[in-house]
Amino acid sequence: MKNSFRRLLYSLADAVGDRCCPLCCEPLAGTASICPSCLTRLDKEAVIPCGDCGQPASSCRCPASGLSPLPTFLDGRSWLAHTWYFHVDSDRLTEALLLSCKRKYSPALSGYIAGVMAEELAAVLPENTRKGWILTYAPRSVKGFTDYGFDQCEEIVRQMGRALHIPVRRMLVRVSGEEQKRMESADHRISNIAGAFAPVRVPAGCRILLFDDIITTGATMREAGRVLADAGAAAVFPVAFAKTVYTRRR
Ligand SMILES: [Zn+2]
Ligand SMILES: [Zn+2]
Repeated sequence: MKNSFRRLLYSLADAVGDRCCPLCCEPLAGTASICPSCLTRLDKEAVIPCGDCGQPASSCRCPASGLSPLPTFLDGRSWLAHTWYFHVDSDRLTEALLLSCKRKYSPALSGYIAGVMAEELAAVLPENTRKGWILTYAPRSVKGFTDYGFDQCEEIVRQMGRALHIPVRRMLVRVSGEEQKRMESADHRISNIAGAFAPVRVPAGCRILLFDDIITTGATMREAGRVLADAGAAAVFPVAFAKTVYTRRR
């Protein structure tokens, strides 16, 4: 099903059906697309401090081991994430949000992520400095796209671009590699993603905001960034909704 047709069907269903929160199934009031208690939980998870610098994810400037193949900095940082993902925790709403977004086409969830990401990016890239930047994303695996029929990152980035007035281009195609799985080792993730992307129409010297929904080991961001840089990008800045923290439950 074409995504534009899918979007139309969803907005029609939304207008006529009983609406419920996509994360907890509680009925929704008014025009809200996620219920207030889920929003409160997500907000709380987003302000958990970094174990190293004590800042929430959105202000953490701790180096993130070469996520970008280029020394690209915005507001003194070389990557940006809105929230943390704790790999030993499975009861956080952040995980439910990311999983639902991957598995079920949901304008409410992709819109939520796009909204918070647009706010984060607006802070590091004020309106008068956005010229010359292009937003793109690391596409999901061919099998993931075939099975689910959409790419969650494409949906999110399209809405981020609209909110920020930054052009969105598809600059990577997925040529191989499975969907990255959380439980797999870093070595497996690196070999799975090596050679997985091919560049399409990367303007020489362009500056790219590269979005992925979650940074786990950084292997996907690094590989996608390397391909964009090799294709002629002058800057690649990694942007994610969540960044995985490898620590015990806290
Ligand atoms: Zn809810
Ligand atoms: Zn930090």
